[in-house]
Amino acid sequence: MNLAQNLKAVTERMRAAALAAQRDPAQVRLVAVSKTKPAGDVIEALAAGQTVFGENYVQEAQAKIPAVGPGPSWHLIGNLQSNKAKLAVSLFDVVQTVDRLKIAQALSRQALEQGKILGVLLQVNVGQEPQKAGCAEDQAAALAEAVAGLEGLKLRGLMTIPPFYDEPERARPYFAALRELARRLAPSLPPGCMAELSMGMSGDFEAAIAEGATLVRVGTAIFGGR
Ligand SMILES: *Cc1c(COP(=O)(O)O)cnc(C)c1O
Repeated sequence: MNLAQNLKAVTERMRAAALAAQRDPAQVRLVAVSKTKPAGDVIEALAAGQTVFGENYVQEAQAKIPAVGPGPSWHLIGNLQSNKAKLAVSLFDVVQTVDRLKIAQALSRQALEQGKILGVLLQVNVGQEPQKAGCAEDQAAALAEAVAGLEGLKLRGLMTIPPFYDEPERARPYFAALRELARRLAPSLPPGCMAELSMGMSGDFEAAIAEGATLVRVGTAIFGGR
């Protein structure tokens, strides 16, 4: 496996998908998901020009992020417990998985204590799958308004993980639903709060880009299988 080649291939596919959807390729950014992979892989990707990375587990990130050193921007893309809020705030620039007010309040409090503003996305369970995290679509408006009012946080948009399908085209309605939700929420929120749509992984990022993704979270296609 050649990491730099994989990165280039993914970036080219992203670009082609954006152009096919008549979108500006610069409006779609790559979050390279390095969960379970060693710090050395991140350093290699960083050397190849990748700057944004995603991790699922706070504990794993606690060892990996300092080992990588300064340079990258880190996004938490896994579920977060309130008792890890302090650690998460110290490690990550963006938490993509805020799905309830309690966790948002804990993150905001910690961010203020640590003298930073944490970027957050609201995770929405558009497929209404009981085993998945994320707030329900009909709770998103109230949560977004509450989160937008928290001083330690900067609300930036929405994130989703759709139901899994072998054919990525079948996930498209869920990606479209997230985009439409952001469009409905934006007018009653401060500017920029619904700027980002984090959706699409190795198997379906092109479909997500066709439906408006601004952040795609890609692990396997870059770092290989886990
Ligand atoms: C692991 C993970 C990814 C990356 O998945 P791949 O299929 O390896 O690209 C993206 N998003 C979330 C939330 C993940 O947990």
